[in-house]
Amino acid sequence: MKDANFYAAQGVVDRAGWRRKDKDWLTQRLSDPESRFVPVWRSQNLVVSLAGAAPQAAFLARHEIAAEGESVLLGIFEERAYFALDLSPAEAPLEGLRSELPLEFTDLRRVGPLLARHEGSLLAYARGITYWHSRHRFCGICGSPTHSEEGGHVRRCTNPQCNAPHFPRTDPAVIMLVHDGERCLLGRQRIWPAGMHSTLAGFVEPGESLEEAVAREVEEETAVRVDQVSYHSSQPWPFPASIMLGFHARARSTEIRVDHSELEDARWYDRNFLLTHQDDDQFRMPRKDSIARRLIEDWLRRDA
Ligand SMILES: [Zn+2]
Repeated sequence: MKDANFYAAQGVVDRAGWRRKDKDWLTQRLSDPESRFVPVWRSQNLVVSLAGAAPQAAFLARHEIAAEGESVLLGIFEERAYFALDLSPAEAPLEGLRSELPLEFTDLRRVGPLLARHEGSLLAYARGITYWHSRHRFCGICGSPTHSEEGGHVRRCTNPQCNAPHFPRTDPAVIMLVHDGERCLLGRQRIWPAGMHSTLAGFVEPGESLEEAVAREVEEETAVRVDQVSYHSSQPWPFPASIMLGFHARARSTEIRVDHSELEDARWYDRNFLLTHQDDDQFRMPRKDSIARRLIEDWLRRDA
C-alpha cells in the first residue's frame, strides 16, 4: 500500500461506528475523565502554541472545559474516546477552556502539515463534521429544526410528520496529473503563492462518473482532451467539505487554451525540468505533503 496522503488516518483512529447507537456508552464516555475533546470554533481548530516549538493539537479532558457545545463522537484512539466539541456559539471561546498550556484557535490549513499525522487526521475529521452540523440545523425537506442523533452522525428532523434523517456528506473533488509521456500539464491560480504551479482539479457533478469529471474539468480549463484516466489515491479535504480523489490521465491532444476565469496560466512541463529545477518565485511545485505533489512525483519517477 502507498503511504497515506495527509489528513488520512491510516486506520489508527477507530471510528467505532457500532458505538454510535449505544446511548449508555456515549453518556459514560462524555463524562469519562479519560475521554478527550477536540474543540472547533467557527471552523478553526485548537492547537497548543508554545514559542519556538511546532504546533500540537490540543486534546482536552472534560475538567478542562467549562463551555457548552454540541459534541460528536469521532472514535477511539489509543483506548480513549475522542469527541469533536463545537464551541462556535461562544464569542470568546478560549475563556471557557481551563488548560495550563497556551492555546489558540487557528486554520488547519496553516498548521496541518506541521502536526503529527494522527493529530492532523483528528483535527480534519472534527472540522469536517462540525461544519456539516452547522449547515444542517434545519430540515431541507420541511424546514423544521433538526437534532443530532447517533453520536452526531445523523441529524433528524423534529417534525413528527417528516422525521427525515440527514447524513453527513462529503463532496467529491477530482485532482489530476495530465501527461503526454514526457511532459505534464500544470496550471496556476492567481491566488496561489508566487511561482506555485500544480495539477488541475475540480468538483464532480451529479450524474457524472469520476473519469468523466476528470476529462470535463481538464477540457474546460485548458481545452486538452484526455483518456486513460486511472485512480491514484485520495486525501480528506475538509475545506470545507471535500475529499480529493487523485488521478493520472493521458493527453489525447496537446494544444492549450486557458480558461482565464479558472486559471492564470497552464503549460506543459518537461520531466527533466521538473526533476532538476530548484523552487523559486518563477516556478515552484506544491508542498510535499499534498496529494498534488504525490501525483507529480509518482509520475516523474515512473518509467516512461
Ligand atoms: Zn423535515
